[in-house]
Amino acid sequence: MSGGYNPLKFKLHTQVFIAMALGVIVGVSPVGDWVTSQIGWLGDLFMRLLRMVIVPLVVTSIISGVASIGGGRAVGRLFSKTFLYYLTSSLLAAATGLFFVNLIRPGDDADLTGVGTGEQMPDLQTPEGPAELILNIVPRNFIDSMAGSDMLGIIFFSIVFGVAVTAVADRYRESVTSMAHSLFQVMMKLVQGVMVLLPLGVFALITRMVAETGLEAFAPLAKYAATLGAGLATHLFITLPLLLYLLARISPRIHFANLREPLLVAFSTSSSAATLPVTMRTLKEKVGVSDKVSSFVLPMGATVNMDGTAVFECVGALFICQVLGFDLSIFQQMVVVMTALLASIGAAAVPSAGLVVIFIVLGAIGLGENPAANTIVLAMLSVDRPLDMCRTAVNVFSDSCGTAIIARWEGETDVDTEIR
Ligand code: ASP
Repeated sequence: MSGGYNPLKFKLHTQVFIAMALGVIVGVSPVGDWVTSQIGWLGDLFMRLLRMVIVPLVVTSIISGVASIGGGRAVGRLFSKTFLYYLTSSLLAAATGLFFVNLIRPGDDADLTGVGTGEQMPDLQTPEGPAELILNIVPRNFIDSMAGSDMLGIIFFSIVFGVAVTAVADRYRESVTSMAHSLFQVMMKLVQGVMVLLPLGVFALITRMVAETGLEAFAPLAKYAATLGAGLATHLFITLPLLLYLLARISPRIHFANLREPLLVAFSTSSSAATLPVTMRTLKEKVGVSDKVSSFVLPMGATVNMDGTAVFECVGALFICQVLGFDLSIFQQMVVVMTALLASIGAAAVPSAGLVVIFIVLGAIGLGENPAANTIVLAMLSVDRPLDMCRTAVNVFSDSCGTAIIARWEGETDVDTEIR
C-alpha cells in the first residue's frame, strides 16, 4: 500500500526508543521473565557482535590515523590535548560527585540490613596503583593483548607502530598506511551491518534488565541512586555542554542530537567498549570529525576517560562512609577525589567495572578490607545495573565531547555544524 504506515521507515534512533519503551513494558509485565528466557540471548548476541569488531577496529583505526597525522611531534601534540581534556573533564566529574554526596548525604539514614545478600562481585581485575596502571599499558606480548582485549596494551602498541610507520621509507609507509586504512573501512562497514540488529538487541537487553532488577531493591538505596543521578545529570547537561561551548564554540544542542545513537547504545549495553564501534561511526558520519582525530582520541577515551564512573566513585565511596558513620576530613575527601580519578581510569569499559574498582578508593581511606563496607558494596551491586547504564552514557558522551573539541582545536571546521 503506497504511502501506508511503515514502522521500518522510522529513523534508527526512533526505532531504538520504541524498543526501549517496549522492553520496559514487557520487563515489568508478568511475562517479563519468560520473554527474557526466550530472547535474552539476542541481547548477548548483539553485545558479542559489537565486541567482535572492537579489537580489529581499534588497531586499524589507530595505525591509519597516527600514520596520517605524520611524525612523533604531531602525535605528541594531539596526545597532550587529549590528556588535558580527559583530565579536566574527569576531575570536574569527581568534584561534582563530591558536591552532591555532601549536599544530600544519602548514607546518613540508609538502612541496608538484609539488602544485597546473595550478590556476588563480578570477577574483574583492579589495578593496585598508578605504577601498575602505567606498567599495564606496555604489553608483554601484543598478540596476548589482542586475545585478551587488553585495550591499553592494544592502544599503546598501535600508537608506537603508527609512529614508526611515519619514519620508514615512503614506499613502505604508503603500503602499510593504505593497508591499515582499507582494513579500517572494512571494519566500519561491519559496524554498519551490526547496527541492523540494534533495535532488537536493545529490546532484549532492556527487557532483561527490567525483569531482573526488582524495584523493591531500590527502596533503601533510593536516596543514593538519586544523589548519583543528580551528579550524573549535572555533568551531562551542564558541565559537558559548557565545556563544548566554552572550549570550542560547539552547539551542545547539535552535539546531543548527533550523538543519539551512541548514547542509546551505551545506555542499553552498559559498556563503553561495546559502544565504541558505534561512537566511532557517529563521530565520523554525523559529527563530522576526521578519522585522524577520532581514531586517536576515541579508543583512548573509551578506555581511560570515564566521567560518569568518576562521579560514581566519589558518590559511592562517601555514601559508604556516611552509612558507617565516618566523617571524612577535607584532606581525606581530596584523597577520595584523586583516587576516584585513578579508579575511573583503571576501570575496564565493561558492565559493573566501576563498582569493582571502588575498592581502590576504599583502600585509600582505609576501608578496603572492612567487612561492613564490603556488605554495603554488595547492596549497591543489587541496584547497580540501571545506574551503570546512566554512567556509561555519561562516559561515552564525554569521549565524544573531547573528540569534537579537539577536532575543532585542530582546525576542523565541519564539526557539529548541523544535525545529521
Ligand atoms: N560500565 C562502564 C563503562 O563501560 C564502567 C563502569 O562500570 O562505570 O563505561
